[in-house]
Amino acid sequence: MNAQKLSKRLETVASFVPTGAIIADIGSDHAYLPCYLIHKKIAKRAIAGEVVKGPFETAVRQVREEGLIHKVSVRLADGLEAIDESDKVDTITIAGMGGPLIVSILEKNPSALKSVTRLILQPNIHAKVIREWAVKNNWALLDEVILEEDDKIYEVLVLQRGEMKLSEKELLLGKYLPVEKSKVFIKKWENEIANWKRVLASLNEAESTPEIDTKRGELQRLIAMVEEVIW
Ligand code: SAM
Repeated sequence: MNAQKLSKRLETVASFVPTGAIIADIGSDHAYLPCYLIHKKIAKRAIAGEVVKGPFETAVRQVREEGLIHKVSVRLADGLEAIDESDKVDTITIAGMGGPLIVSILEKNPSALKSVTRLILQPNIHAKVIREWAVKNNWALLDEVILEEDDKIYEVLVLQRGEMKLSEKELLLGKYLPVEKSKVFIKKWENEIANWKRVLASLNEAESTPEIDTKRGELQRLIAMVEEVIW
């Protein structure tokens, strides 16, 4: 992967950035995504935000090597603190982290989202917490993608401003992904069900307590809910 040729995962994220966007890529360890978006003339300007010094320095080097210092501003900052109101950022990408970390970044500095109209979020795990955050904070799903690369499954959630209601099933599985039911989607949830069934088997061997019975009931309910969708 480099700034000209992204991984399939980051290419999917990039495909949702509107032409002419001013973007901030938060957690931009090598700044490949912002550099790619400028090279392809998709983004007008970009910010690469990174909280750890080593990756920040890698990003700075990368932007220099690409000859993009006038278009990509690399900033050492925690989450959305990389963004200033005067940047007029309209699109934020946060990729390659867990859902809870992505949500904590969004929650820590909500005022930085004032000018933002699109969020492209790529959680490695726990996409559900992002959908929960979106519902509570008036962001609506514009699209969802599930993809597999190097034996790992990733989800990309594209959000725009707007009200959204999601059922428990949609919060967990997605709004569009269960309708599309791609092979990768089925694989992800078959794996998840297999994990839940392993936990259930060990709970069945344990001595019954109110907590264990509750946990068992919850797992059985989840398994039935997901099986109904994928079968
Ligand atoms: N976004 C790139 C990608 O998808 O390939 C890099 C993913 S890397 C696994 C996560 C990066 O996010 C790391 O470089 C980490 O230091 C950075 N990071 C984690 N928490 C952050 C925060 N609060 N603010 C900015 N960067 C953060």
